[in-house]
Amino acid sequence: MKRVYNFSAGPSMLPLEVLQRAAAEMTDARGTGQSVMEMSHRSKDFKPIIDHAEAMLRKLMGIPNNYKVLFLQGGASLQFAMVPLNLAPPVDGKKRKATYVDTGIWASKAAEEASKYVEVRVAASSKDRAYTYIPAAPAPDPEDAYYHITLNNTIVGTRWTTLPDTGNVPLVADISSCILSEPLDVSRFGVLYAGAQKNLGPAGVTVVIVREDLIQKVPDWVPTMLRYEIHAKEGSMYNTPPCYGIYMIGLVLDWMEAQGGLEVIYKRNQEKAALLYNYLDSSSFFRSPVEKRDRSLMNVPFVHGDPDVEARFVQEAAAAGLVNLAGHRLVGGMRASIYNAMPIEGVQALIDFMKEFEAKNRGH
Ligand SMILES: *Cc1c(COP(=O)(O)O)cnc(C)c1O
Repeated sequence: MKRVYNFSAGPSMLPLEVLQRAAAEMTDARGTGQSVMEMSHRSKDFKPIIDHAEAMLRKLMGIPNNYKVLFLQGGASLQFAMVPLNLAPPVDGKKRKATYVDTGIWASKAAEEASKYVEVRVAASSKDRAYTYIPAAPAPDPEDAYYHITLNNTIVGTRWTTLPDTGNVPLVADISSCILSEPLDVSRFGVLYAGAQKNLGPAGVTVVIVREDLIQKVPDWVPTMLRYEIHAKEGSMYNTPPCYGIYMIGLVLDWMEAQGGLEVIYKRNQEKAALLYNYLDSSSFFRSPVEKRDRSLMNVPFVHGDPDVEARFVQEAAAAGLVNLAGHRLVGGMRASIYNAMPIEGVQALIDFMKEFEAKNRGH
């Protein structure tokens, strides 16, 4: 069997133990004589699977009882629309207000999509320096229906370390690329959402965690499938949920628990990130473009500066079993995504390879 160290930003690496368990259960899941892929979502066999995924998520994240957990489809990108449609639908054609902080490409996409339904105020942006830092968070507008941030910026490699104080205005966060990478006080938020394919499981499931009092009846014209109210009432079973993906999330969360839980994972993530950033800061060949205090634990972009050298680095690294190190197509350079499933050995292998490459190519 050959396994590479996969530094993809998403879909990304899954723990080997999880894949092996899924493989072992592929044709006969827990004595049912069926694959989870073949089960009716309304069957007695599937019910414990979705209940387990939710219970484990609640346990590991410490989700309070007054929050609903929804397993939806459409990716984080559909939440860019569902958040405004559910928290602040226009009434009689009149838009309500929301504040967005522009910390990168996903944050700006979220704001752009929301502007179809709410009056968006982009209160701060770090675009002036290519999104390499997190700007100071302005106070909310008292009329805001909500205040949106992107907690970890996958493409540019920054993360919020202090949450904005939004008072009574619900804080909404896209946590696609940092969910369960470090402890988070869920009670500080009105809504949290994440596509699963970065840190939770395979693509195709989106987790939404929403405070109950924010789930409201929305106007008739809002499509049924886009209503938190419906999905909450139906336990994510209004229609067929992404059953296999939900099962995989359950396995990933079991794996996290077996590792020692979130605190252990967080400590490991800090160690992995420190190894890589310390090397980058000591290198005269590669460097991190990101402001030190705002650096992501999950996505580590780095540059050399010469696109030809960078392309060769990515190619030679792949040949050495270190794959998907090219930066996002919009920003170039390189990026190592080191989510929960990336072992510290993978990060060390990357650093060893970078040192070797640096030694061979110094002077270029
Ligand atoms: C990947 C990503 C998205 C897009 O997710 P989809 O599930 O593909 O829609 C949005 N926001 C962040 C922060 C991401 O990392």
